[in-house]
Amino acid sequence: MSDINYWEPENLTDAVSILADRADQVRALAGGTDLLVKMKKGLTNWKGIVNLKGLTELKGFIYEGQTISIGALTQISALIDNPLLSLHFPALVDAARSLGTPQVRNLATVGGNLCNASPAADVALVLLMYEARLLIMGPNGSRQVSIQEFYVGPGQTVLQQGEILTAIEIDLPPLNSKGVFFKHGKRKSHEIALVNVAVLLTPHPGRKQIAQARIAVGSVASTQLRIKDAEDSLTNSLATLSAFEQAAELVKEAVNPIDDVRSTASYRKQMVGVLTRRALVEAWGEEL
Ligand SMILES: Cc1cc2nc3c(=O)[nH]c(=O)nc-3n(C[C@H](O)[C@H](O)[C@H](O)COP(=O)(O)OP(=O)(O)OC[C@H]3O[C@@H](n4cnc5c(N)ncnc54)[C@H](O)[C@@H]3O)c2cc1C
Repeated sequence: MSDINYWEPENLTDAVSILADRADQVRALAGGTDLLVKMKKGLTNWKGIVNLKGLTELKGFIYEGQTISIGALTQISALIDNPLLSLHFPALVDAARSLGTPQVRNLATVGGNLCNASPAADVALVLLMYEARLLIMGPNGSRQVSIQEFYVGPGQTVLQQGEILTAIEIDLPPLNSKGVFFKHGKRKSHEIALVNVAVLLTPHPGRKQIAQARIAVGSVASTQLRIKDAEDSLTNSLATLSAFEQAAELVKEAVNPIDDVRSTASYRKQMVGVLTRRALVEAWGEEL
């Protein structure tokens, strides 16, 4: 760590140009809860870090009509403290609450959770379910990508050298919908997910049929996934336990987990089905 160059730019333009000018050698630093751990373990050969903490314009929330924009440098703890997010995006608040410890949540940022591109990331998974749009600034100006286009592989995103994620936009879900986030780890708290699931169900008026279903799953493939076949199986169908069980089976068929130090692939496959069924039942919220 001692030979590392360090910059603290005061604005976005300077941050972009420092990152862009030094090719592959430097990395952006937000909360540092992923980046510094990797550097201390010697898993990187980066020559410098660009601390984004001075870019205060990338922190906080902006509400405009039906859309909430979350600055990329907003701390995870700020999601928990936000009453409007609790009202409209409870699954996002639950994911934030499940991330690490209070100390980690006070440092870790929403943008860092996305840009680290871990298949297990909790807040990023719920943002996938809420169909977030990601705003990016780079040497060639700004661009926007959908969260589904953002990931290329584990630890890899479409971000080019010099590009910084600036904000995350999410639209308010239908008022009668309910989002749910479930996470399964080895311990009850302070645990990276062995499997995580985020679902949203919107009923038709009359509440017997499902108008829309969204299912996102994590830690069961090289990137986090939306499971379209399972979503389609529920759309316009009656909300029954067997419909939810069938959707959970389709999720199990679609995923491709690996064995690693934390779990086996077969256990993850089994658990993603269990968690999906439970999340769908919880999101429907009535006797079936
Ligand atoms: C003890 C501990 C427990 C944890 N528990 C959990 C958990 O339960 N769930 C979970 O999901 N994660 C967990 N994490 C991982 C980590 O805290 C989160 O992924 C966090 O959100 C990362 O944010 P950060 O601001 O610290 O990112 P950093 O470490 O600063 O950055 C992570 C990566 O993203 C890049 N980056 C960051 N911000 C930007 C930006 N705006 N534009 C472009 N690139 C950017 C960096 O260059 C780096 O490559 C844990 C970490 C620790 C140390």
